[in-house]
Amino acid sequence: MSFTNDQGAGESQVRSYSRSFPTVFTTSKGDLLRDHDGVSYIDFLSGAGSLNYGHNPEPVKRQLIEYLERDGLTHGLDLTTSAKLDFLHAFQSHVLRPRGLDYRVQFCSPSGTNAVEAALKLARLVTGRTNVIAFSGAFHGVSAGSLAATASDYYRAGLHGTLTGTTHLPYPDSPLGGYDTLDLLRRMVEDPNAGTPKPAAVLLETVQGEGGVYLAPPEFLRGLRELCDRHQILLIVDDIQAGCGRTGRFFSFERAGIVPDLVTLSKSISGYGLPMAIVLIKPEYDVWRPGQHNGTFRGHQLAFVAAAAVLDEFWADGPDGAFAAAVRAKGRELARRIGCSPAMDAGARLRGVGLIWGLDLSAVRDVSAGKISNMCFDRGLIVETCGRNGEVIKILPPLTISEEHLAQGVDVLLTVLRLAIEDAPTP
Ligand code: PLP
Repeated sequence: MSFTNDQGAGESQVRSYSRSFPTVFTTSKGDLLRDHDGVSYIDFLSGAGSLNYGHNPEPVKRQLIEYLERDGLTHGLDLTTSAKLDFLHAFQSHVLRPRGLDYRVQFCSPSGTNAVEAALKLARLVTGRTNVIAFSGAFHGVSAGSLAATASDYYRAGLHGTLTGTTHLPYPDSPLGGYDTLDLLRRMVEDPNAGTPKPAAVLLETVQGEGGVYLAPPEFLRGLRELCDRHQILLIVDDIQAGCGRTGRFFSFERAGIVPDLVTLSKSISGYGLPMAIVLIKPEYDVWRPGQHNGTFRGHQLAFVAAAAVLDEFWADGPDGAFAAAVRAKGRELARRIGCSPAMDAGARLRGVGLIWGLDLSAVRDVSAGKISNMCFDRGLIVETCGRNGEVIKILPPLTISEEHLAQGVDVLLTVLRLAIEDAPTP
């Protein structure tokens, strides 16, 4: 190989994950990746939530190969195709109908940020208002409209003046502690002289991923739903990272029993890491004119084939099926093991649900999450950081991870934490 990825092989310096995991990956299967030296790594990153069903899941791969061999369309604009209809049918019968949900499906350009763009545009079209409420710690993508709702200064740097139409409120949990956001929002919306324009929508992640794995309490979500209803404000849940089973339910908002007006899904919706993004729209808000939000790559047929296949494989047995229950059980075991580890005595805090967990090291003296991630990589575990300053270890294994590899990955993480804490200089 003539380049190592340290040199970037001519790639822009904007590259990011490749810096944290400096090797050349060649193959992957299930919960493991392999590099060019034959070293195996347990995956606690899952393509940042795009590989909920693991790498190259066998039944899905078979269907993709079969589809390719019979020359099914690969690209389809937004033509009606058998692959698209199969996906829509599976989505209705395995996901929407069993949960009593009535949504239309909008196909977007195949990245999460484009689904967020579409949802924001639609909320503004429906209400005729422009301002959107988003939250501290939020991540919604990096194209201009979504970036206006993303809170991180790192991503917004230099563009502040151009990122308009969004007001950020404190998320109900954050590094600064809990906050009564509902009361603040109520005062903004119900006081005619509040000084802030009535919003078109409230956009949120019910579990913030990039922000540091903070959870919105169910009662907050229910209160928000009620407030939005009372004032004809659209509630948009960005389920791009926390959806598709990550929280132990197909949708993250099932935890609170609410029904958003619009939902964005991407990452694991295709089930195979293939690019795909959709917006779910309550029928009464589907006011688009034909082609008003278009895009050449809305019809990635292989993504549709894979998406239908994973729904058949993992979600055909109802909202409380075996797969979701197994995700919750694995999450409980992971939390139990980390929760009783010495790292907690040293000040670590653990937050999460299902199989999205954040181990917050901000109060652990002289131990950085970045260093822990590097040390894990040296021992065959891929795990990333998140949070305001990368102070949180984000544990995001494939939902299909074997109990054995989950336990091994946790062993590596706890060993590394112990070594780092022991190595920290005494005050
Ligand atoms: N929304 C959330 C909650 C995300 O986590 C992400 C990506 O991490 C996005 C939106 C943006 O998705 P994409 O990177 O595919 O544009």
